[in-house]
Order: sequence, then structure tokens, then C-alpha cells
Amino acid sequence: MHRIVATVTSLEHHLRLLAHNPDLYRPPVCPHCGVGKPWRHGCYQRKADRSPRSSAACNRVPVPRFRCHACAQTCSRLPACIAPRRWYDWVVQQIVLLGLASGDSLHAAARCGKVARHTARRWRDWLAQRGEQFAFFLRSRFPDWGRVGDAAAFWHASLAERSLPELMAWLDRDLIVP
Ligand SMILES: [Zn+2]
Repeated sequence: MHRIVATVTSLEHHLRLLAHNPDLYRPPVCPHCGVGKPWRHGCYQRKADRSPRSSAACNRVPVPRFRCHACAQTCSRLPACIAPRRWYDWVVQQIVLLGLASGDSLHAAARCGKVARHTARRWRDWLAQRGEQFAFFLRSRFPDWGRVGDAAAFWHASLAERSLPELMAWLDRDLIVP
């Protein structure tokens, strides 16, 4: 799908690129029709992170949008530092998911990431629902992880070795995330 630009890992970097080199975000080909070359079509604003750690200045972030001249559909591209369809920073999610994969209780993992328990539950359920498919694709990219036993052990190994946005950027090439 190539919805995530994997090389942009901080909001500061994202804002700087958007101001000086926005073409870096342009997808090479339209993700809808696979034919047209999308053109810039403004930005929309979204909240990147509502965790207590984030600075207010980075709370609303422009996300570049593109429009395909062939099929007229629009698409947007996110830097790796912004989690698609989520409010929280990837780092917070990684802390919570790694805690859960390590055997922490929901309560303990939520406290560690400083998020509400229902938020941690939602992430846990998301990974439980999509995890098998994610693991299938990731194991084909990172064969060493294929040897890891159950789901919790797999995610513990993969999240300890790679960042969550990095894993999601890999998955984004094969799947629509989330
Ligand atoms: Zn198109």
C-alpha cells in the first residue's frame, strides 16, 4: 500500500520535509488504480499524539494528500512517526504491546505506557485480531523470527529487535495497516 513513509521517524523531520521537500511524500504510482501518478492535493490536519509526553506544538500535524489524475481518487501518506488511525505515539504503543507480550497484566502494561486500561485493551485486541496475518508477512521478511514459538514470544522478539513503526512500514508494503 505504501501509505507510510518509513524514513521519516520524527515529527520535526516530517515538518521540515513538508516545508522544504514535500515531493518526497508523493507516491510513485496511484495506490487505487496502479496507473496514474498522483499530484499534490493539499494537506489535512490530524492529531499525532495525545499522550502526556507530547508537546502541544506537535499536536496537530499536516498530512500530505495526493490526487490521481487518472482515476481522480485521493490518497495520503503518513510519516513513520505517526500511527495510522491512532491518537498515540508509536513509542507508547510499543511500550504497552511489548509489556503485554512479556506477560504483563493489562493494568501493568497500561500503567507503564501511561494510557487508560481500555486503550491498552484495544491495542491488545487489535494485535490479537491481526497478529497472525502480521506475523505471517514479517516471518517472510525476517526468517529468524520464524523459529519463535507462540504469538507472545514472536512479538516479544520482534518488538525487542525492531521498532513498531518500522514493522508497520514493512507490513504497509504488503497489507493495509491496521
Ligand atoms: Zn488512480
